[in-house]
Amino acid sequence: MSSIVKSPLLLDGIAIASQIKSELVEKVAAARSRGYTPGLAVILVGEVPASQIYVRSKVKACGELGIYSEMHTPPASITTEELLELVASLNAREEIDGILIQLPLPAHVDTSRLLEAVAPTKDVDGFHPINAGRLLSGSPLEEILAPCTPAGIMEVLQRSDIPIRGQRAVVIGRSNIVGKPIAAMLINASATVTVCHSQTADLAAITREADILVAAIGRAGLVTADMVRPGATIVDVGMNRITTEEELQRFFPGNASRRAAFDKHGSTLMGDVDPAAFAISGAYTPVPGGVGALTIAMLMANTVKAARLRRS
Ligand code: NAP
Repeated sequence: MSSIVKSPLLLDGIAIASQIKSELVEKVAAARSRGYTPGLAVILVGEVPASQIYVRSKVKACGELGIYSEMHTPPASITTEELLELVASLNAREEIDGILIQLPLPAHVDTSRLLEAVAPTKDVDGFHPINAGRLLSGSPLEEILAPCTPAGIMEVLQRSDIPIRGQRAVVIGRSNIVGKPIAAMLINASATVTVCHSQTADLAAITREADILVAAIGRAGLVTADMVRPGATIVDVGMNRITTEEELQRFFPGNASRRAAFDKHGSTLMGDVDPAAFAISGAYTPVPGGVGALTIAMLMANTVKAARLRRS
């Protein structure tokens, strides 16, 4: 008897992000025809090179979609009080719909106080306790500002027709920016959800039950093939740089393009999932080119949504 082995479906985050961005161009045009332009203010404190790169990409995306943007770049010596004044002034401005505070902030700044000072209606990162509470209360995603990375995961699953209702979902990671909000979104979409973390006993026994497995850990290749039920959908949120020859050989044996990238840069980017686990999945998000590609598109979507919700 012959059995047909289906190759896993690659869930292409870049293609989905560009679809979302094209839809946003139309939404921005519609907003303009109603007399307003969605606007985003980005606060970048100090000179952290990685943050500068992220912020530049966000501002560039605004330009491409017709969203107004402005950057505030105070020095690392700025105090919490001075930053609170800046946030208050942005909260008060009619043409600013979204306020994004690029993290991490310098150690002397009170990050929670600052994030809570952003008006919930302008909280395009979805980190404010009021927005987190609305998500947990089951408000529809279209009506709330929810964190961008988990919102991007939902877009990938829904636009790829991955069944969610009644499915068994396992989330590894319980951070406020990924693990907890994606667990809430999956519960709201009627999946049966288990959340695992570093203290979970017998992780593999739980992950093997998953129809949808979300890995948001920050440990290269922690999810191995023996932890995955064949045919499951894997969402790999992890962004890890591997820098040793041993890791390259373990995760990417015989992979010429990874070898070339590794030789050129001295590292290569991978997720929390061993590629051998992708091979037995039904569908998976690659790293790079999966969930990470959605985050900026979802920030833009939140800015356009914030502008609409504030005026409705
Ligand atoms: P985080 O705050 O460090 O949380 C990591 C979670 O993983 C914690 O809940 C931790 O458990 C759990 N964990 C650590 N080791 C574990 C183990 N051995 N077994 C089971 N669970 C374990 O990280 P995060 O901010 O959620 O980010 C997770 C990953 O996603 C990172 O690689 C990050 O770079 C990436 N990320 C990507 C995007 C994007 O693509 N745009 C956005 C955000 C994050 P405890 O709670 O018990 O410590």
